[in-house]
Amino acid sequence: MFDLSTRDIKFLQGVGPQRAAILNKELHIYSFRDLLYYFPYKYVDRSRLYYISEINGNMPYIQLRGKVLSFETFGEGRQRRLVAHFSDGTGVVDLVWFQGLKFVMGKYNTTEEYVVFGKPTVFNGRINIAHPDIDPAEELTLSAMGMQPYYNTTEKMKRSNLTSQMIQKLMKHLFVALEKEEIAETMSENLIRKYSLVSLPEALHQIHFPQNADMLRKAQYRLKFEELFYIQLNILRYTKERRSRFRGLMFEHVGEKFNTFYSQYLPFALTGAQKRVIKEMRRDMGSGRQMNRLLQGDVGSGKTLVALMTMLIALDNGFQACMMAPTEILATQHHETICKFLNGMDVRVELLTGSVKGKRREKILKDLLTGDVHILIGTHAVIEDTVNFSSLGLVVVDEQHRFGVAQRAKLWAKNTCPPHVLVMTATPIPRTLAMTLYGDLDVSVIDELPPGRKPIQTVHQFDNRRASMYAFIRKQIQEGRQAYIVYPLIQESEKMDIKNLEEGYLHICEEFPEYKVSKVHGKMKPAEKDAEMQRFLANKTQIMVATTVIEVGVNVPNASVMVIENAERFGLSQLHQLRGRVGRGADQSYCILVTGYKLSEDTRKRIQIMVDTNDGFEIAEADLKLRGPGDLEGTQQSGVAFDLKIADIAKDGQLLQYVREIAERMLEEDPQGIKPEYAVVWQQLKEMRKRNVNWSVIS
Ligand code: ADP
Ligand code: MG
Repeated sequence: MFDLSTRDIKFLQGVGPQRAAILNKELHIYSFRDLLYYFPYKYVDRSRLYYISEINGNMPYIQLRGKVLSFETFGEGRQRRLVAHFSDGTGVVDLVWFQGLKFVMGKYNTTEEYVVFGKPTVFNGRINIAHPDIDPAEELTLSAMGMQPYYNTTEKMKRSNLTSQMIQKLMKHLFVALEKEEIAETMSENLIRKYSLVSLPEALHQIHFPQNADMLRKAQYRLKFEELFYIQLNILRYTKERRSRFRGLMFEHVGEKFNTFYSQYLPFALTGAQKRVIKEMRRDMGSGRQMNRLLQGDVGSGKTLVALMTMLIALDNGFQACMMAPTEILATQHHETICKFLNGMDVRVELLTGSVKGKRREKILKDLLTGDVHILIGTHAVIEDTVNFSSLGLVVVDEQHRFGVAQRAKLWAKNTCPPHVLVMTATPIPRTLAMTLYGDLDVSVIDELPPGRKPIQTVHQFDNRRASMYAFIRKQIQEGRQAYIVYPLIQESEKMDIKNLEEGYLHICEEFPEYKVSKVHGKMKPAEKDAEMQRFLANKTQIMVATTVIEVGVNVPNASVMVIENAERFGLSQLHQLRGRVGRGADQSYCILVTGYKLSEDTRKRIQIMVDTNDGFEIAEADLKLRGPGDLEGTQQSGVAFDLKIADIAKDGQLLQYVREIAERMLEEDPQGIKPEYAVVWQQLKEMRKRNVNWSVIS
């Protein structure tokens, strides 16, 4: 059979080895198939011709039909430009070129009729079209014009004349080559019929050469449908396989430890959301299936307590539990919090991080093996091979986006039967994205904050108005509160970051001579960082100047002011995370976003969203829309590449949900993957798994 994916692109007419090398490098196009699946990023409707008498400088792209009256050049050297006076009998416009003058002069003349396509602007009172697309009118019949596709290209490509137009030309050659062969359908007949999809060959043709807007929509729908369908099918299938392979540990009872804690040690009433989530997890862990749950809860919603109570259930069933945090500071803080909660109960909790060494470490490792340590809290150190448990029953991963998928997978092997897994995150991941990213994790949400919290007030402040800001901070400190001042961390230049931070620190020390100031950044040794955090926590210092190392989880309830310098450099989710460091006590808290005066439209929007809402989910949705999923925090670290060719997680959420249900129904109908009517689908899934290694790590 004709296999498009093994046909080297260099053999396509019009390509050759040189262009092939560029296509390989710039767009990762290696085969005929790769090119076929390189879709336009936009279309312009070229089905209409305008008269020059109708157009003005405010119009978008338009096209005209007429002749060049004369050519004229102006200026010298770099200023040189070529103008073609172009007319259709109803008026005259100037076509203008700043580059490639010779080429244009050589190519076009004053006798032939042309169709000109471009964006009109007004210059010196005349209508100009700079660097228009020009085609001889004879070659370009109206019916063939239709919707004009535009392909993304890079600077390098343009230098080798691999423009959007050139790609379109190659696409024509590709379809000529395909005429002799058949593109194999990748969806099953019954699904195509039931969901009124156009066929694959039709969709691929229309996506590159749309006949009209309606056909284009149908083609896009079919291709998005298919793309999302296979992603979902893959995840669902994978989940099923894992479930059938691994039985879960059975936690049948809620026993003495849980009940004692609940009735005698719990310092406050659980929120409704906390209760509901704990119930969901009890059900999971008692079901005989391995629990894989993602717990989402905004900063300060009380996830730690939920984790602790879930761990107590494991203990009540004779198992150990372990909790991983992404940083030493956080692990230490969890350890302290949990020890405090459990103070007086017969539960042994240990902390294991990189800085726990020698005899102390040996003892912990030994006591883990005998089961004397009940709860282990730590950093990555807990998943090292040297750490073994007598019977690990539950793993809690806090702030999961700092952990790679591979690291999570390592946990599976810590017990013959894989432990239950609870992943907690304060980065509220929109549901659509969670479904794609963590398709096999069940999702629980804590959507309620503990009572008595006052919403944080957020203001935007230009950086030339610091005096009033410092006065405000001073007043807060006088009232007994503390303040954070955060500087951005730009990975390209760690030195610069530290410089910013150092300067900021000195400046703050000068500004507040009467108070003590802490400083924390990523280049410090964990022990130093820790010591400094502890000083701040104990209110021995009143101001904490830091980079984003304090972003995740750190809890200092007395801190009531969060100043974020250069707020324009942060993403929305990150701003929200940082803001969540305050507002943890009973006092009114404030977040001050400091930016320069000149802001881009996008930045202005981002800052406004922060000022307008405290709702993490709203912010996450907005973030997804503004930045697109590839940039969403956590997606890169978690090892998932978003290699979507046509669907858009931010915009196609509903379709995603819809096809997921379709995939689920199909799996119910054909759980073994043997029904002939779905043979095409199973075959396609197999091929896609082969092709896309990334899929295997989505878990
Ligand atoms: P996060 O979800 O951000 O990890 P934490 O677990 O750190 O939140 O909880 C934030 C604060 O709220 C902690 O000081 C915790 O003790 C407190 N807290 C948790 N649950 C409740 C509750 N039900 N009522 C009152 N305070 C609570
Ligand atoms: Mg937390």
